[in-house]
Amino acid sequence: MTTFEALGIDARLIRATDELGYINPTAIQEQAIPILLSGTKDFIGLAQTGTGKTAAFGLPLLHVIDAAEKYPQALVVCPTRELCMQIVKEIELFKKYIPGVSVVAVYGGASIGLQIRDLKRGVQIVVATPGRLIDLIERKAIELEEIKYVVLDEADEMLNMGFQEDIEFILKNTPQRESTWLFSATMPAEIRKVSKRYMKDPKEVTVGKVNTANKSIDHQYYVTTAQHRYETLKRIIDFNPGIYGIIFTRTKIDAQQISERLTREGYDIDALHGDLTQVQRDKVMGQFRDKSLQLLIATDVAARGIDVQGITHVINYELPDDVEVYTHRSGRTGRAGAQGICISIVHSKEMYKFKQIERINNSQFHKLDIPSGKDVCRKQFFHFMDKLLSADISHGNYETYVPMLAEKFADITKEEVLKRVAAMEFDRFLKYYENAEDLNVRERSRKDDMGARRKEEVGGRGDKRRDAPRSGGGYSRLFVNLGTKDGFYKASFLQFILDMSDLRKDVLGKIDMKDMNTWIEIEKNAAQQMIRSLDGKNYKGRRIRMNDAETGGRR
Ligand code: AMP
Repeated sequence: MTTFEALGIDARLIRATDELGYINPTAIQEQAIPILLSGTKDFIGLAQTGTGKTAAFGLPLLHVIDAAEKYPQALVVCPTRELCMQIVKEIELFKKYIPGVSVVAVYGGASIGLQIRDLKRGVQIVVATPGRLIDLIERKAIELEEIKYVVLDEADEMLNMGFQEDIEFILKNTPQRESTWLFSATMPAEIRKVSKRYMKDPKEVTVGKVNTANKSIDHQYYVTTAQHRYETLKRIIDFNPGIYGIIFTRTKIDAQQISERLTREGYDIDALHGDLTQVQRDKVMGQFRDKSLQLLIATDVAARGIDVQGITHVINYELPDDVEVYTHRSGRTGRAGAQGICISIVHSKEMYKFKQIERINNSQFHKLDIPSGKDVCRKQFFHFMDKLLSADISHGNYETYVPMLAEKFADITKEEVLKRVAAMEFDRFLKYYENAEDLNVRERSRKDDMGARRKEEVGGRGDKRRDAPRSGGGYSRLFVNLGTKDGFYKASFLQFILDMSDLRKDVLGKIDMKDMNTWIEIEKNAAQQMIRSLDGKNYKGRRIRMNDAETGGRR
């Protein structure tokens, strides 16, 4: 096993790494350090986070800079302020025995005045996030004339966050740049492009497996109609009770209106778009970051550079036209080794666009059924019950109340109590979702079509008489005293009778719905099960009557 001495770094740096408990170099350090110290100009290191990348470039940087010169000689650009602070912290530790070296962090969301003051003190290494760095360049508050070394850390993350132009601007504004060291966990095409344009014959080192796409993101999609987009969004949110997510829209108006509508309906959401002032923007971002906002709805431009940790879901309210934009959006989740989900709400006419994104993204996208009202209720219900079970009861003086409570609940069973708790919590959901429509656009497969045709043949009817009830063959016709007056749409009614009866949709034929009554065609061998499941049951306090329309009918 190699040692740090064998890699050829300065003894003062080895003393510091010894103190940090680094015994042997990690794989990326072992491979990168000798190359970077050999005078190689350009370098690409492909390694995941947590593999010791910071020392892989930090130690060589400290080795090569001139501590006697008090101007910026090395620039490290990284995607987030957390990473920025972390890099500075590590470099501070490595440089412990090298006097006269200063390193400063510049990142957004903190006082630019203080950072300018730090820069003026004479630093050799600047660690920056792209947005703040550009700001400083434009204010002429940073001296990049003498920068010889530029390190791009987590380059793929920076491009995911929409910083491509900024990176190129920075590279163009470092005229004395001799060496560019690029570190990335993945190697998407955009990084190849940047490296081709700004680096000369880079030496490349790969540690572990490198993916072209970020595999920690599960790409999912739901197909619906344009008019059901909003409902679908709501259902996705409701189906994911612990969601901490960003929803992307194409326009400012959409972001604003959907945010207002969801807020009115009780959701914890705010919008981020170009019409906000900096103060408003900071306020929204602050609330989202400290999780007092569960959802953020944003346009692509406004969301540029958002560096929030722990985002569970990214939702594309509409698909972007551009594959790159899709990548930027989805890259907001599944970060720092965490798992993330990127959901797209897709209109059936957009499928061609979606297939293109899927192909270029080089990952498999999963089509899911939009959850039914029942699914949502069930999910919410279990989430709440989990919360109930994990509630911390160790602190309050609850024991004092237990005898009184026990007395109060003496005549009620545990099941009853649970039902009441559920009713209190779920009233809104149950009412809303009781008869919720099926929002899925169902593709009819060839097999379905053939099956349907066969059924038609069995029923002895041709296409011209589609409206007429099928008779004989395999179908019965049922009557039920429920209709549109009860608040049903055809789809919600269908869902209701299937849920109640536990039958599959393909046993049904035509549904003829009127204000007060409905006639249902159903395969003969399933008719009795349907009647048994519905007849005599209650619906909103009314007794359901269902029977065979031909034998006991009342048309
Ligand atoms: P990084 O990938 O740079 O974020 O490093 C991940 C962690 O590994 C950090 O906590 C480093 O302090 C630690 N580390 C880096 N190099 C070594 C090493 N050679 N031996 C032990 N720990 C290391």
